[in-house]
Amino acid sequence: MTSLKSSLRNLVSAVLDLLYPNFCGVCGSFLFREHYFVACKECWEENFTPYTGEKCSICGHPLEFLPGAPDICKRCLEKKRTFNFDSVSYFTLYRGLPEFAVKELKFSRLKPVADVIGKTISNHLLEVLSQLSVDLVVPVPVSKETLKERGFNQTEEILKGAEIPYVSFLEKPFTPEKQSTLSFKERSENVRGVFRIKKEFRMGLFGKSVLIFDDVFTTGATANEIAGLLKRYGARKVHVYTVCYTPFNSLSKK
Ligand SMILES: [Zn+2]
Ligand SMILES: [Zn+2]
Repeated sequence: MTSLKSSLRNLVSAVLDLLYPNFCGVCGSFLFREHYFVACKECWEENFTPYTGEKCSICGHPLEFLPGAPDICKRCLEKKRTFNFDSVSYFTLYRGLPEFAVKELKFSRLKPVADVIGKTISNHLLEVLSQLSVDLVVPVPVSKETLKERGFNQTEEILKGAEIPYVSFLEKPFTPEKQSTLSFKERSENVRGVFRIKKEFRMGLFGKSVLIFDDVFTTGATANEIAGLLKRYGARKVHVYTVCYTPFNSLSKK
C-alpha cells in the first residue's frame, strides 16, 4: 500500500510539474518536483547563507554599512538611540535570495518555503538561544485578517521547520496601515497598542528571558513595541531574532 501511495504521489507531483513548471529564482533551472523550493538546492545553499560581519550592539545593523564606534553604528551613536529590547540577532541580510524567499512565502503564500527557511536557520537560532539563556520563544503574530488571507502565520511556520519550541502568547487584534514605506518614528506610532498578551499568559512572564521571533527586521519598530509590552509584564530580558535584517541604505524612506 505504501509503495502504491508513494507512486501515486510521484505521479501527481510529475503532473503538477508539467502543469505548473517551476524554475530556480537564481539560476533559472527547472525545479523538478521541488515546488516548495524557490531556488535549486545548489543555489539555495550558496545564497541563503549567514551574515558573519560585525553588528551594532544596540540595533544589530551590519557595521560595515554604517560604521560608527567599534561596536555601535553611526545612527545609534549620533542619535543616542535606545530600544526596549536587549539584543538583536539575525541569520542573514534582506536582499537577494533570502528577500525573494521571504516575499514568496508571505505574498505568494508559498507555505512550504517556511520549512526550508526553518531548517536553514535552525542551528544558528539554537546557538543564539543557548548563548542568551532564553526561557521562551514567541513568534510575532499576524492579525486575523492576514491569517485569513495568507492561511498561516509565517513566523510560526518557520519555527516549526526549525523544530524550535515556541509559545504563541501574543495576539494582534487588528492590522495597522501598511508599514513598508514608513520611517521608524512613523512605524512606532503605527504599531502602538497593536499587540496584546493573551490573558492566560499575562502572569507568566515575570522574570523570564524572552526571544521575539520575526521574519524581517526593518526599522525595529515592531520588535520595540513588543519588547516594551513584555517588559511591562515583567520580562527580565527581551531579545530579538529575525531571519533577515534590512540594512538602512536599502530602506526606501529614512
Ligand atoms: Zn539554481
Ligand atoms: Zn545601531
